Amino acid sequence: MIIDDQYYDVIIVGTGAGGGTLVRKLAPTGKKILLLERGELIYRESSELIDTEVFKKEQYNAKEPWFDNTGEPFYPQTYYSVGGNTKIWSGVLQRMRERDFEEVPHQGGLSPAWAVKYQDFEPYYTEAEKLYQVHGKVEDDPTEPPHSETYPFSEVAHEPIVQAISDVLSKQGLHPVHLPLGIGDRGRTDAEDTGVSPVLDRENVTLKTSAHVVSLLTNPSGSEIKAVEAKIGEQSYLFMGDIIVLACGAINTAALLLRSANEKHPNGIANGSGLVGRNLMKQLLSVVVQLTSSANSGTFSRTLGLNDFYWGDQDFPYPLGHVQNSGGIFQDVIFAEAPPIFSALSRLMPNFGLRQLATHSIGWWLQTEDLPNLDNRVYYMGEKLRVDYTPNNVEAHDRLVYRWVDVLKDVEQVQPNVFNRTTHPRSDMPVQIVAHQCGTCRFGEDPTTSVLNLDCRTHEVHNLYVVDSSFFPSHASVSPGLTVIANALRVGDRLIERLK
Ligand SMILES: Cc1cc2nc3c(=O)[nH]c(=O)nc-3n(C[C@H](O)[C@H](O)[C@H](O)COP(=O)(O)OP(=O)(O)OC[C@H]3O[C@@H](n4cnc5c(N)ncnc54)[C@H](O)[C@@H]3O)c2cc1C
Repeated sequence: MIIDDQYYDVIIVGTGAGGGTLVRKLAPTGKKILLLERGELIYRESSELIDTEVFKKEQYNAKEPWFDNTGEPFYPQTYYSVGGNTKIWSGVLQRMRERDFEEVPHQGGLSPAWAVKYQDFEPYYTEAEKLYQVHGKVEDDPTEPPHSETYPFSEVAHEPIVQAISDVLSKQGLHPVHLPLGIGDRGRTDAEDTGVSPVLDRENVTLKTSAHVVSLLTNPSGSEIKAVEAKIGEQSYLFMGDIIVLACGAINTAALLLRSANEKHPNGIANGSGLVGRNLMKQLLSVVVQLTSSANSGTFSRTLGLNDFYWGDQDFPYPLGHVQNSGGIFQDVIFAEAPPIFSALSRLMPNFGLRQLATHSIGWWLQTEDLPNLDNRVYYMGEKLRVDYTPNNVEAHDRLVYRWVDVLKDVEQVQPNVFNRTTHPRSDMPVQIVAHQCGTCRFGEDPTTSVLNLDCRTHEVHNLYVVDSSFFPSHASVSPGLTVIANALRVGDRLIERLK
């Protein structure tokens, strides 16, 4: 074991949406910051993934197996690199709706209220949108929460075929909008180019890559983390600092806390509530494919969103969820999900090649909130990391899919020459699709029902914080990334106060 001879003010573990954003916020304080990241620094832009390569199954999945609730191994769709999953994300950066912060009855149960409200997050959403250069437009969307400022950049235009669909949807009385997208000089913004790289030339910031944090060591009373143990290559290192921030992603952060159990924290660090690893949520996600008669480029971005069914439908008083076009199929990063869709399509259209299928289709991405459940959880069984997840709120999601297919059929009737109206193949997400994982260390005021306090500091360990998606008490149906970023900026303000 090598003991690092430096002492840091802050050690941040993980450099994705949470950790990468936090270092950008804290770096100007001049405090000595160490970033420990298990992946490598890759400068490749996320938008350079426009390539049929992305369809190679599991290319962007982690190499280590996790295990599902039957004990079967799977390789999770999660990316280890500087920037984490933001290096492979679609860059749709949405605010949660105001009501998402309140208790909401769903068909499958209750979505709990957050103790911090939309008004508290609003300034940080605005800061996040500026930092990640969000292009968007506040439009006539009945669910859109109030914005104190307009988006920093104007919206990205739809591909002609998507614009034509948008026009038909509007005529039908629906409210299609332009999706908010983070876009920089070289494509989609991510936590590496926006968070980490801009501060790497500062003397007070040190990045260690291929540094896999394996354990947290506390002082004898268990009230503080004294050291962070990381494996770099075959060698173990100990790093020491005043404040430790975990940002490994909801599943890996919970796993790290659990496997660091010691005498004072027998069930895992900061796990007196027993909630570390529990309430894992990852949304119900489906892709529906619409086949077109004419060709499109296959490389356009996601641009169209629709929330008309977000809070329900005429004959269904419970929330259904959010719809967005999944972009040109070649552009979109559906990875592990894509091959099943394409094999289904190949069967339906045996004379079509992959490229022809991709350029003659539009994907629709449907997202429904899943609800926190104690039995959906991350834990160790011996050395094996188990991810027990049983989907809930499924009827609401199915209704969203059927409703959307009906809407598509109406669109196709108006434009019969544009679409091949044979079928609308659907593909659901298996357990390894953990893209929207959250909830494993929920925040709250009560230490018996939450792991983190409202500043995202653990109730039990006074110098330990979590700024990744673990803190969500409920998920919402919009994508989580902007809320992770906004929260990291919010916690950053608390840390700056503490570091003074
Ligand atoms: C294909 C895909 C598309 C997506 N598209 C969107 C989208 O369009 N919009 C949206 O809002 N969200 C999207 N998401 C989700 C979004 O990327 C996540 O919500 C967000 O990245 C979560 O941030 P995080 O900080 O919790 O974790 P991550 O961004 O996953 O960061 C975790 C970091 O911790 C590192 N790490 C993990 N364990 C350790 C360890 N033990 N030691 C050291 N380092 C460690 C990882 O390498 C990584 O850098 C997408 C995700 C995927 C996979």
